[in-house]
Amino acid sequence: MLHIGCHLSISKGFEHIAKEAVSISADTFQFFTRNPQGGKAKDLDLKDIEQYRSYAATHHFAPIVAHAPYTLNPCSDNPQTREFAEMVFTDDLRRMEHVPNNYYNFHPGSHVGQGSAQGVAMIIDLLNKILSPMQTTTVLLETMSGKGSEVGATFEELAQIIAGVNLKEKMGVCLDTCHVFAAGYDIVNQLDDVLEKFDKIIGLERLKAVHLNDSLMPFASHKDRHAKIGEGLIGAEALVRFINHPSIKNLPLILETPNEIDGYAKEIEFLRHQAI
Ligand code: FE
Ligand code: FE
Ligand code: ZN
Repeated sequence: MLHIGCHLSISKGFEHIAKEAVSISADTFQFFTRNPQGGKAKDLDLKDIEQYRSYAATHHFAPIVAHAPYTLNPCSDNPQTREFAEMVFTDDLRRMEHVPNNYYNFHPGSHVGQGSAQGVAMIIDLLNKILSPMQTTTVLLETMSGKGSEVGATFEELAQIIAGVNLKEKMGVCLDTCHVFAAGYDIVNQLDDVLEKFDKIIGLERLKAVHLNDSLMPFASHKDRHAKIGEGLIGAEALVRFINHPSIKNLPLILETPNEIDGYAKEIEFLRHQAI
């Protein structure tokens, strides 16, 4: 069975979001752990989490995906920004243990001119500081489009990060279809090749989740603009082929398309219908 959901707001709590997900035939979802621009996280409501956990179990939810704030940059040249990244990451991972065995996805970072090697080294440093053998959360590196000085737009860079992390068993990758297309991986015409490359360089066993988006921007443009499914340059046909690929079809798929809840409901219905 296809596991699919979308990005939803957690402002009304976990149980609310899970019910919202079920109302649009989703069995997973993604949420920001705090304001995407950073800032303080809301206090956890343990009663709400308890209710959520039993609700999610009853409704056979696939793993859910927490998304770190965009401002989290472990490879900034500013020590204060790096400290902020450590603080947020640590706090988010501590909170995630209240909803165990799920995913925490983050943008690896922007090296802001220090060079990719330095960026990779700083990201590894942070991960080796904060990952713990006890945690049940798997941390996911998101594949990036390569705008500006983003690290993680190539499979090689993601593999370098994982290679440097001591607790590799806590690490995985979240493939964003819009980002990889914009980064120059041709999932429209060469899907098998792209996934073979992923397997050779990173290992498909590391691929834990997907951000399923169409792209407003052309192939290899290194620009990150999501489109609704079928309204971008990847197209519905290629995205349907993608979700039905044997290496993809059992992963949680998260829509981050420019939609309100009705639009998400329609896309989920369409994709469930196309799943073989
Ligand atoms: Fe993201
Ligand atoms: Fe994404
Ligand atoms: Zn994006």
